[in-house]
Amino acid sequence: MAPPILMNDLSRQHLATSSEVSAAIDRVVASGWYSLGPEVDAFEVSLARFVGVRHAVGVASGTDALELALSAVGCGVGDEVVTVANAGAYGTVAALRLGCRPRFVDVDPETLLMDAAQLEVATTTRTRAVLLTHLYGRLGPVEEVQAFCNRAGIALVEDCAQAIRAERRGCRAGSFGAAAAFSFYPTKNLGALGDGGAVCTDDDEVATAVRSLRQYGWGERYQITRPGGRNSRLDELQAAVLSAKLPFVPGWINRRREIVRRYREAVAGGSLRMVSTGALDDAAQLAVVVSPERDIVRRLLEEHGIATAIHYPVADDEQTGLARSVERAELPVTRTAVSGVLSLPCYPELTDGEVDRVAEAVLRVSNR
Ligand SMILES: *Cc1c(COP(=O)(O)O)cnc(C)c1O
Repeated sequence: MAPPILMNDLSRQHLATSSEVSAAIDRVVASGWYSLGPEVDAFEVSLARFVGVRHAVGVASGTDALELALSAVGCGVGDEVVTVANAGAYGTVAALRLGCRPRFVDVDPETLLMDAAQLEVATTTRTRAVLLTHLYGRLGPVEEVQAFCNRAGIALVEDCAQAIRAERRGCRAGSFGAAAAFSFYPTKNLGALGDGGAVCTDDDEVATAVRSLRQYGWGERYQITRPGGRNSRLDELQAAVLSAKLPFVPGWINRRREIVRRYREAVAGGSLRMVSTGALDDAAQLAVVVSPERDIVRRLLEEHGIATAIHYPVADDEQTGLARSVERAELPVTRTAVSGVLSLPCYPELTDGEVDRVAEAVLRVSNR
């Protein structure tokens, strides 16, 4: 039997980028400067240009980026942050770290992204921000959410951890809100050799706040001028590696989109429904199908040698470790989504033959 097809194989990405990445690593190691230095500065400039905003600020992870972005737009103890409950709880964890109370809205049954029509009932006078996750790499309803936030006088923060380069009418993920969080966890569309993240914004004050908060709340060195700071620096090695990989991102994402579209064709008309589209507004971080018989589908694919994963198996308001700080909400679409979603292998270095094998197995399972 052919070898199994895994959800990801980062050693293949390394083969494709090894000369650029190795040169970047050697340069940093020889430089004698290892955290928040010229490599971070250069990466921040490239990332801001790539996203189409004035500022990018490197931090230590995507979750830190969410926390510092929320903090920089004014979220603090006792404030409420409105978000969804099917997106892995990263935003919820970030909000809780700030002493904020997460409030959940349900998702659209078609896209599994935030249902903007429900924002009105979820907001109160304590609501300080809406955190919109571009889940699976697909842009959420930014226009509707932005219009709502403008009317209500609250901030839109985008979670772009899966969505770098998703775009609508020429505007990219991360350029719509007051602030946007990116993750460079190794398996993301742009991945470091460890953890990393960034906050993007057009707002000078938000950028200044994040720069201060990522380094203890310093204004000048050793002078804490802002409360709520911590250490969330991005290191020079990761920044240099990210700069080396950034030029590959457009090609990688086009390949991911191609893979998603191939799977879409395969499932059309069968019992599985493909959520991911592979269109321009979808960075195709994940290729997600839904099925009421998800666990059976998963087992059948495994028998065909195809690995799958579940993003995400537990809704935020059902996480046992958060039970004391998060109230259960009425989220019927989220409940169905959580028990039905399944992610198929989707990474740029999959060969055409492997993509065909996945598509054929999915077709067989879908039409069984
Ligand atoms: C990965 C991810 C994060 C968290 O990023 P880390 O770098 O792992 O902290 C946040 N939100 C979403 C949607 C993610 O996929």
